[in-house]
This record gives sequence, structure tokens and C-alpha cells, in this order.
Amino acid sequence: MRVALAFFFHETNTFAPAKADMAAFSGEGFGGIKRGERLVRNVDFNMPFAGFTKEARSYGWEVVPLTGAGAVPSAHVTREAYETIAGMIIDDLKAALPVDAVYLDLHGAMVAEHFDDGEGELLRRVRAVVGPSMPVVISLDFHANVSREMVELSDAMFIYRTYPHVDLAATGVRAAQHLKKMMQGLPRQAKAMRELNFLIPAAGQATATEPLKSIYARAAALEGATIGNARISTIAMAPCFPIADVPMCRPTITVYADNQGAADAAADELAAQFRAAEPRFVQELWEPCAAVREAMRLARSAGAGPVLLADTQDNPGGGGNGDTVGLLSALLDARAENALFAHIWDPEVARAAHAAGVGAALKIGVGAKTGWAGETPVEGEWLVEQLNDGDAHGTGPMAKGWHFKMGPCALLRLGGVRVAVVSGKGQCLDQAQVRIFGVEPASLSILALKSTVHYRADFEPLARAVMVVKSPGPVFADHRDLTYRKLKPGVRVMPGG
Ligand SMILES: [Zn+2]
Repeated sequence: MRVALAFFFHETNTFAPAKADMAAFSGEGFGGIKRGERLVRNVDFNMPFAGFTKEARSYGWEVVPLTGAGAVPSAHVTREAYETIAGMIIDDLKAALPVDAVYLDLHGAMVAEHFDDGEGELLRRVRAVVGPSMPVVISLDFHANVSREMVELSDAMFIYRTYPHVDLAATGVRAAQHLKKMMQGLPRQAKAMRELNFLIPAAGQATATEPLKSIYARAAALEGATIGNARISTIAMAPCFPIADVPMCRPTITVYADNQGAADAAADELAAQFRAAEPRFVQELWEPCAAVREAMRLARSAGAGPVLLADTQDNPGGGGNGDTVGLLSALLDARAENALFAHIWDPEVARAAHAAGVGAALKIGVGAKTGWAGETPVEGEWLVEQLNDGDAHGTGPMAKGWHFKMGPCALLRLGGVRVAVVSGKGQCLDQAQVRIFGVEPASLSILALKSTVHYRADFEPLARAVMVVKSPGPVFADHRDLTYRKLKPGVRVMPGG
């Protein structure tokens, strides 16, 4: 049994300031574009293709690695980058033939300059090579915007079931297990897809809290159950990546079962549960000044651990550049004590701090180099407290085994507020990304993070309180602030809105 494997990740925020070009895919984030054996040499980390490979090898299968590439979330994938990488995958697939099956580890919300449905187009090209009957299974991010084509062109989709995404490798394992069942004679599965007609803001999509907690619990109970005498083999739910102006942007539920009646019944039940929960998907958002005031009050009250302020609208994991300063300014204006901001992306300031050295007083403007919403850098005489090379190894439930490469980094202080400045763009979601600055996260009074939900996996257990803050940035938390042109008719941009 030979299975071809490729990965191609991009989460496209069509409203973000920067596009994903070849340089973005060649950068450090995912280790550059890889081809052949390098893809699967080390598979001991939390990614779907790693989990798939480990599981497939345990069956004695041969995994044939094609091409793997990914870039941090941003606006559209350029035509050049899409065609180059998709071209490599197709060339490598042709060269790998004959194979018995294909596994693709994809995001599901990739928009290219010339295709709204990046994954659907890739699947169309793969099918053109392998034909309609070869098993093709795919895994997708929880934030996939699933198109009808993706459902039709693959035999089964496996989508993460957690946000924070702690089940990445487990999702790849599920894909391998399903493929094994197909090889052992699983009847051709009927598919039922349901589309919902409202977008869900990312901050309302955490799976450890309601309403998604109950919906995922119901899906887990349905999976493997029989309706009539037909078994439901797997369920793929995607609450959507809402800041994408494409027709396939909306939550979807896809059920696979032995017959159409069973697939339809389960899909209808889950869709009804989603619809009934609509008003509960809206999360409270804090204005920066009010959030800081409340955080300072909470920090003085009884309890332990930091108050977490999630700077969700500039989350680099959602297409932000990580350099807006609305929340940082609010912390400074309020003279917050024992507060840390992680991180501000500003390679220029990091470089200047390294040149100046630890202990230097650096007169410089921090952040806001993108100039989003007319912001300007935060000027001040910053004390350089610590310098590091930005190489951190994840230890938390999501990023265990990940190697963060944040480039030259500097810890700067102004009064009671410290800022962790990084040279490489990325979301702060693991305590190791704070510890590298010589700061123990649990010892802080206030910890501000550029993240939407992922930080919860590793930081929430030590937090006194969590607040989601609406400071300027391109990762819009209230979609009424945006102008969508391509949504399907009838899709509401906010729950209940
Ligand atoms: Zn995601």
C-alpha cells in the first residue's frame, strides 16, 4: 500500500494588509517549502500529516511524500505562489505513480488571487491525475470554509475538533484509520452537507465552552452510531473562518454514512442544534481602556496569576501583522504595573535593541510600522532589559514539539509595562514564547497577547481572568465593521445580526 502525501496550508484573511507570496512560503514559519523524504523524516509533533504518517507506517504502509508548504495567515496567496506550489504537488504526484491512495493535509480557507477556493482547485487538479475512483482523503483546519467541490472531490474530510487546536496529529490519525477502513471494504459512503446562514466570530468558537462544547459532544455521540441499519462513519464540522469574503465562507457540517438517509438525519440534527445556539455565539468585547482598568482592578483583588487580555483583532494567526499598539498604549496610559505585552512585531526595534545592548536606554518608537487605523509608533525612552535569539520550543498542549523561530527579540520596559519585541511574525500561544524573555508568565499581573483563542490552551489554566479586547487590527471581531461582497445570499455576517 503506497499513499501519496502532501501539505499546503494557508488561512486567508481577505481583509488583511499583506499577501502570501513565495517569500512568505519560503520563510521560517513552516520550515520553508519541502519536497520528498524531508517532509516526514521527523513525525513526532502535533500536525495532521505527522499523525497520519505515524499511523500509516504502523499499518506497514509506505508513505510517499510529495511537496509540503505553508505560510502564516495573511491576505490572498499570490497567483505565482499558488501555481508554483500546486504545480510542485502535481508534478511530484505524477512522478510518484502508481500509488493506491492520496492524503492531503490542507487548511480549507485558502484564497488565491485567481481562485476563491484554493483547496477545491487543488483537489480538481489531483483528481485529474488520479481519476475519480482512487481514494483521496484530506484533513482540514477547524477554520475551513468548506466548498461543495471539496466535499465532492474527496472521499472523506477530517477536520480538527478543538479550538485551541490541540488535536492536530489526532486528526491525521483519524484520516489514516478511515483510509484503512476503506481499504478493508467500507461501503461507499453517502455524504450529507449542511450550510449555516450566519458567520461565527472566532472568539466565540472556543470548543471548551458553550455553545460549541455541546454541539461537538453530540457529534461525537453520533459518530459510529447507527440510524436505521446504517452506520455513521465520520462527521466533519467547520465553524468557518469568518474574515474571508468568498462564497464558501459560512459554517458547514458534513456527515458520512452507509446510506443517504442516515447521513441526512445526522446532518439535519446537528444543523438544527447549531441554529438553535445562534444567539449564544456572540462574545463580550472590551474597549482597550475599559479592559485595562478592569484588569488592574482584578489584579489588585484576591487570587493568583495574570489577567489575560487577548488583543484579538491583530492576531498574527488570523492575518494581523502583530504590530498594532492600541492596547499597549492603553496599558502605558493607565500606568499598569507588572504588565507584559507579548508580542509586538518590529524587526527594526529588535535590531536597534541588539545594537544598543542590555541596560541601554533606547529612544525609539515601538510598533505600528504597518500604520493600521492611522496608528503611530509608541515613542519613549525604553530600557533594554533582555535580548534573545527567538528560538523557543513549545511545551503547551497545542505547540508541544513545535520550534518557534521568532528571530532576534528584545524585552523593553517603560515604567511598569514591558514589551516583548519580535522580528518574526507569529501568534503568542505557548508559555515558552514568554519564558524566552526571562519572564515567568504566572508571576505577571497582566499579560496582553496577540491571539484570539489559541492562547487559552496553555495560558488560561494559570490565569486569574480572561478578557477579549477590541483594539484596532485586521482580524475583525465584529464582522459588521466589514464590507462583504461575495457571501452567499442570505448569509448574515454576525450571529443574530
Ligand atoms: Zn484554525
